[in-house]
Amino acid sequence: MKISRIEVFQLTLPLKEPYSLSGGRLRFEALDSTIVAVTTDAGLTGWGEGCPWGSTYLPAFGKGIRAVLDELAPQLLGLDPRRLEVVERAMDKALPGHGYAKSALDTAFWDILGQDSGLPLCDLMGGRVEEPVILHSSIPTGTADQMIASVAAARARGYSLHSCKVGPYAALDIPRIEALHASLPEGESLAFDANRSWLPDQAIQVINATAALGHPFEQPRETLEECAAVRRATGGVVYLDESIVTLQDLARAQREGLCEGIGLKIGRVGGLTKARRLRDFCLAFGLRMNIEETGGSVIADTGAVHLAQATHRRATWLCHDMLTLDTAEGGARNMNGSTRAPDAPGLGVAPDREKLGDAVAVYE
Ligand code: MG
Repeated sequence: MKISRIEVFQLTLPLKEPYSLSGGRLRFEALDSTIVAVTTDAGLTGWGEGCPWGSTYLPAFGKGIRAVLDELAPQLLGLDPRRLEVVERAMDKALPGHGYAKSALDTAFWDILGQDSGLPLCDLMGGRVEEPVILHSSIPTGTADQMIASVAAARARGYSLHSCKVGPYAALDIPRIEALHASLPEGESLAFDANRSWLPDQAIQVINATAALGHPFEQPRETLEECAAVRRATGGVVYLDESIVTLQDLARAQREGLCEGIGLKIGRVGGLTKARRLRDFCLAFGLRMNIEETGGSVIADTGAVHLAQATHRRATWLCHDMLTLDTAEGGARNMNGSTRAPDAPGLGVAPDREKLGDAVAVYE
């Protein structure tokens, strides 16, 4: 089986509400998404999506994905997409780095492998765990009252685990963390994600003042070095997210005891093939994972949910549950606070070509 055609689509995905995090450093109202359709000479078409969480969250942006595809796609024609690691090596040889842009292609290759083998991706990734995958909400930074209202709105949609964006000011964060904690009904959980916005002294102050409430903190600072310094001066459970890009990053975080879990974002680590290796490492060392995408519609989310459904350690996030535009039929949806990977072979998502519009590029 050979790749015979790669189509690239661009969509602007509007958020239901403008979103702010990392102390307002990151603020946006829509996401720039790139969707790819990879067709083979056997007539199978696989789908994937790459969508950074705005242009200011990671070293990744929408136009960058399409530029990388323009470089890579012609070099992939003729390869067998089912040989995932052969194609992975071909992509890494042709263009080192740029994992966030390769991720969309990698998902499409997995989709083709699944369709060809008659299995949903979760069964190719270790096997479906029957329990549904718990969803966490994503609560933008605001005043304590605004954040409590956002949590209530998420609760009304079934969410019981809430990732609340905080930072950078300790004087604001400590009272809002205490207020969110005090407002929480039994059976629900919180996490406080600084998205690297705290300075070390701010992180130390906030974590030491609120760790006894029992909620995890996420990505206090930018780099592993800085997170390690904060770790030495604080207690509490820590998740690392943005600073875990490679398997080497994860190995170092484990070796130095920097975290109890990670945000395993498929786009950031370079696709499902690479994410599966990080997943296996986390399983081996008892680290928890939120397995999710950096952003995107149901096409992106469903790839991440397949890996989460085969893993089952903590939670996932559905970006598309925060959008006003739906790109596809099927896929992993919010079922009152949890989700489930589709049973159909492959990704189990049927994109609506009318909504995608004309391809912005076709390689064949
Ligand atoms: Mg995070």
